[in-house]
Amino acid sequence: MRWILGVTMAVTMFFSSAPAAESESREKIDDKYKWDLTDLYESDEAWEAALDRLDKDKDEIVKFKGELGLSSSNLLDCLEFISGLDKEFSRLYTYASQISDLDTRVSKYQAMKQRIQQVLTDFGSRAAFLEPEILKIDRARIDDFIAAEKGLEVYDFYLHDLQRKHEHRLSEKEEKILARAGLITGAPQNIYGILANADLPYPEVTLSDGTKVTLNSAGYARARTSTDRDDRRLVFDEFFKTLKQYRGTFGATLSAQIKKDLFSSQTRGYKDCLSAALDRNNIPTEVYYSLIKNVTDNLDSFHRYLNIKKRMLGLDRLEYIDLYTPTVKSVDLEYSMEEGSKIVLEALAPLGADYTGTIREAMENRWIDVYPTSGKRSGAYSSGNAYDVHPYILLNYNDTYSDVSTMAHELGHTMHSYYSNKTQPYPLADYSIFVAEVASTFNEALLIDYMLKKLDDDETRLSLLMEYLDGIKGTVFRQTQFAEFELRIHEMVENGDALTGEKLTEIYAEIVRKYYGHDKGVCLINDLYTNEWAYIPHFYYNYYVYQYSTSFCASTALAEKVINNEPGAKAKFMEFISAGGSDYPITILKNAGVDMTTADPFNKTMEKMNRVMDEIEKILDKK
Ligand SMILES: [Zn+2]
Repeated sequence: MRWILGVTMAVTMFFSSAPAAESESREKIDDKYKWDLTDLYESDEAWEAALDRLDKDKDEIVKFKGELGLSSSNLLDCLEFISGLDKEFSRLYTYASQISDLDTRVSKYQAMKQRIQQVLTDFGSRAAFLEPEILKIDRARIDDFIAAEKGLEVYDFYLHDLQRKHEHRLSEKEEKILARAGLITGAPQNIYGILANADLPYPEVTLSDGTKVTLNSAGYARARTSTDRDDRRLVFDEFFKTLKQYRGTFGATLSAQIKKDLFSSQTRGYKDCLSAALDRNNIPTEVYYSLIKNVTDNLDSFHRYLNIKKRMLGLDRLEYIDLYTPTVKSVDLEYSMEEGSKIVLEALAPLGADYTGTIREAMENRWIDVYPTSGKRSGAYSSGNAYDVHPYILLNYNDTYSDVSTMAHELGHTMHSYYSNKTQPYPLADYSIFVAEVASTFNEALLIDYMLKKLDDDETRLSLLMEYLDGIKGTVFRQTQFAEFELRIHEMVENGDALTGEKLTEIYAEIVRKYYGHDKGVCLINDLYTNEWAYIPHFYYNYYVYQYSTSFCASTALAEKVINNEPGAKAKFMEFISAGGSDYPITILKNAGVDMTTADPFNKTMEKMNRVMDEIEKILDKK
């Protein structure tokens, strides 16, 4: 449920990274390729006026304090009041953050964002009584309230979910202590960020063509794609040498982070850290365990992919340094926005006229800000937070195939938001992070299927097929490998074992080498590179990354059904993107025909991966 106290979550947007593009001045670009933000507010002045009004109105929340359990109508009035405020907050925030993204250099827009954050924080502290007070009303009385007051039905899910989590909630006094502990528990992640992003003396190397590169995270990620093997080795060696030098400190911050997770899960009475982390969206822990088991059982498919890579690169021995260099000459497919839009519309046609009609609406009515312009935020995202308006998409379109694919991806998020907002009442519209990447990667699957049916040139097909496989490698295998590492280090801390930088490297080495088939000679991983864990910020996100893998498998299973014209599949997918947060994500997916507690979606993904590899090998054999 979208909820005011969690509004910072509600305004989370879904990003894809895109290469930096040439930028132009905004005036030169035709209006039809630019956002129309007047759908949100007529002008900055209108936004100011709306914020002033909201700032005043919000203080009325205090009148509900101490009254919630007295009658069903009191409870309803309060929830309606907050829901209304939340909706307006989201719209205000959408305007401020989007106008600021169009030119990040303008300080006025930065100030607008800060101002709304302040009003929000202020409101949050006034509304802090809400959930503890609701939880004092006993369950039977809540049920009576819902039965008596029809308006409360849309809050049924929220109220019962609150009850569900109740057993892990502490007394008011203890909750206060925990909240104050927040001053300290954020430290490991902060320290990690400062060390990794600012203080670490990243090395500078000179590549074979004479260019100098500073190997910070971004520089390393770029330089490791080099087509010169000696350059790649140099880049890996120098980057990981530096990380190794500081691994004691990285180990101490990561260990403190995991202890923080343990502190919080023990204090709240959870069985372990994993149960605590997955409880938020009511995801059974078996989903996590079976993901790791399924991936481990299917490492042969992954090794087959690595062998194809080795073959395409013409190497005798594949090493860890070879994984990011392109395997095929990049095929110069160019698509103008018009051509790209046409392709996307045709590729998504299996979803029906209503779906593509909405996409056309997005394209024609300026929901999309298309081109890179000076000062504009990089990358791409979709934001569906303005419930009464429509979603918006930010792109930095640069005529490449990857831009077309990004457009299809972001349109997936946009359609998910659009149909959920249209179908669900506001309190039930927001979908959970667990399903967030399903609709977007579903669109990518449909796009690639369409492209492969259309293109018959072997080189181009090879390039698209490899791009697909690299996607599976990065999303399914690598993220699950991270998930397994995360599980292992949490279990160690739970068992009272000490985590040092050295120990973390040892555990990481064992897992990464298992995945890449190091001992079987599939892909060799130098000792030095097993300090890689220190480079991954996601280990500070508390069991987050597995959702990339589960989302990908869920969307593959759904897309297969639609592509194969399985009866009812399209209708079920439309129901899925219209369901918002009206139920728990596992249930919503089950209704759509994907049971994440079974191995089926994963097996479908492996079948597809192997089909793609059959085809690649066929093309390679021809050569
Ligand atoms: Zn996305």
